[in-house]
Amino acid sequence: MKKRIFSGAQPTGELHIGNYLGALKNWVALQTEYESFYCIVNLHAITLPQDPKVLRQKTLDLARIYLATGLGPPESTMFVQSDVPEHAELTWVLSCISRMGELERMTQFKDKAKGNQERAGVGLFTYPVLMAADILLYQTDLVPVGKDQKQHLELTRDLAIRFNRDFGETFKVPEPFIPPVGANIASLQDPTKKMSKSDENPAGSIFLLDDADTVTKKIKRAVTDSGTEITFDDGRPAIKNLLTIYQLLSGKSPEESVAHFDGKGYGQFKGELAETVIEFLRPFQARVKEYDDNSLNEILKAGAEKARAIAAETLRNVYQNVGIR
Ligand code: ATP
Ligand code: MG
Repeated sequence: MKKRIFSGAQPTGELHIGNYLGALKNWVALQTEYESFYCIVNLHAITLPQDPKVLRQKTLDLARIYLATGLGPPESTMFVQSDVPEHAELTWVLSCISRMGELERMTQFKDKAKGNQERAGVGLFTYPVLMAADILLYQTDLVPVGKDQKQHLELTRDLAIRFNRDFGETFKVPEPFIPPVGANIASLQDPTKKMSKSDENPAGSIFLLDDADTVTKKIKRAVTDSGTEITFDDGRPAIKNLLTIYQLLSGKSPEESVAHFDGKGYGQFKGELAETVIEFLRPFQARVKEYDDNSLNEILKAGAEKARAIAAETLRNVYQNVGIR
C-alpha cells in the first residue's frame, strides 16, 4: 500500500512562484510515489474577509492552476474542502482538545491579525485546528508544505498524539515534508518577509499568471544587497533569494548557478533570471487556459467523492471514540 499525502492551498489572491517552488512543485514530484490528496481550502480562505463572487471564481481558478502544474487525476485526487463537510465537523472536535495558549503561540495568527488580536476573527485564531482536521481526516503520512506551515504541522502532530492518548488510537501522526531549497521564497521587495498572496504590494511577488513584461519589471525592481557577487550568502538575503529562484527554475545545481554568473553584474543576472522565469511560465499559462468550468466541476466532484469516503470513515471512528453517536 502506498503512503498517503495531504496538502492544500487557499483560493485567495494570486498564486506566486513561492507557492509553486515551496509546495506545488513538490506535490507533483511526490504524487506518483504517494496516494495524494490535494485540496482547495476555501474554508480557510474565509478566515479573512472575501468577496463571495470572487471566492467562487478563485476556487475554480485554483483548480485550473493545480491541473496546469500537473496535479490531478489519474495521479492524484483534487477536491474542494467545503465539498467534504467532515473537515468542518472534525474541526469542532479537535477545537475541544486544543488549548488557547498553544493557538496564541502561532506566528501566522500574530502576523495575519496585524497587531490587533482583539479585532481578529475567531476563525483566523482557529485556522490551525481546521488545518489539523484536513490532514488527520485522511490518516496522512506526509504533508508537503512551505516553511511557514512548520509550526501548524507541529500543532497537528500534538493534537493527533493528544487525541490518541485520551480516546485511543484514532489518527496517524503525520510527518512534514519541507523541501531543503525553496521552502521560504522571500518577497522581491523585502527579503526578510516571505512572498505572500496576501501581501498588499504586488511588486513583492511573481504571480504564476503574470505576463512577460510584468515579470521583467518586477525582477528589475527587486531589491538587491550591497556588493557585486552573485552567490548564496546568508548575509546577502536578497541575492540569495533571486539565485534560489534561478536555481530551481533553471534546473541547475547551486554550484552551476554560481559559476554561470561568475564575473557578471546584477543587470545581466536580473535579465537572465527574468528570461528563465518567463520561459517557465509560458507553457504553464497556456495549459491554464485549457480547462473549462464544466470539466473542472466534474473533476472536483469525483475528487470530493473519493476524499469523502476516507474522511467519513475517520470521522465515524472519532465520534465513536469520543462517545458521540
Ligand atoms: P496567504 O498570504 O494568503 O496565506 P500564501 O502565499 O501563504 O497566502 P497559502 O495558500 O497560504 O499561500 O499556502 C499554500 C502553500 O504555499 C503552503 O504549503 C505554503 O507553505 C506555501 N508557501 C506560501 N508562501 C511560500 C513562500 N514564500 N515560499 C515557499 N512556500 C510558500
Ligand atoms: Mg499562507
